[in-house]
Amino acid sequence: MLQQTRVAAVIPYYERFLSRFPNVAALADAPEQDLLAYWAGLGYYHRARNLQKAAQAIKQSGSFPDTYEAIRRLPGAGDYTSAAVASIAFNRPHAALDGNVLRVLSRVYADGTDIAAPAGRAHFRGIADQVLDRTQPGAFNQAMMELGATICLPRNPQCLLCPVASLCAARQTGRVHEFPVKLGREKSVVEERVFFWVEREGSVLLWQRPQDARLMPGFYELPERVHLPGIQAGELLGEFRHAITFHNYRCRVYEAVPPEDTGACGWVRMRELPQLPVSTLLRKAERLCRRTRTVF
Ligand code: SF4
Repeated sequence: MLQQTRVAAVIPYYERFLSRFPNVAALADAPEQDLLAYWAGLGYYHRARNLQKAAQAIKQSGSFPDTYEAIRRLPGAGDYTSAAVASIAFNRPHAALDGNVLRVLSRVYADGTDIAAPAGRAHFRGIADQVLDRTQPGAFNQAMMELGATICLPRNPQCLLCPVASLCAARQTGRVHEFPVKLGREKSVVEERVFFWVEREGSVLLWQRPQDARLMPGFYELPERVHLPGIQAGELLGEFRHAITFHNYRCRVYEAVPPEDTGACGWVRMRELPQLPVSTLLRKAERLCRRTRTVF
């Protein structure tokens, strides 16, 4: 859940998720619609599906895997997750390398290797494995992540408070702001999008992604002009921004009267929306409409 998302934003989702799916079996057996409804708002839905697939694999095998290699074979478990779980839960000596740890290492060693390039990450993985405290790998990994998240911050590193300042080559040479080096980053793309809020007797017109879609299958979305050709835009209800990976969308939502031809869209009761898998973008639009409309 924390991937690309702040801790404070995740906590309520995490608590709700755990109260609905308190153990591996509950998650493994949950209907997909339930799973996605409890994940809705966090984005990156493949994580929820992978989590469920992992729960199903664990349930089938009868126990939680306790080595890095076995955890790594679970759906959705990459190098970082596998190393974090193996070291923190089972004291296995594997360094967990996230963005925070990469930043700390690049500064401590004043190492200008590109952290965005796969070869750069492999380079820092080698360093992380060398400096890992093999007697307490879980505590070491958490300390490194926490150092990066709270002290060695991207913009304003708190070097005066830093417990490793005396070991830090970037600090010693006054070059803290030169690290980390990120060359391989893609530029973000800004895009304008227009959506239509079409409402009738407590229902709203939405389209649903096909069940075999690559992205967010089965999710409900607010229609754009391509879904309702010939639709006439009414009053502008408002606008908001929405970012997905390297795309920055500027979204405007217009009210519209129901068209004769609703195409592939269908009417969905608004009071049922909280129980349905709906995209974060639709949730934002719904909040916007609740604020700007008197009737709802
Ligand atoms: S001294 Fe500053 S730059 Fe070096 S690790 Fe600590 S916070 Fe980061």
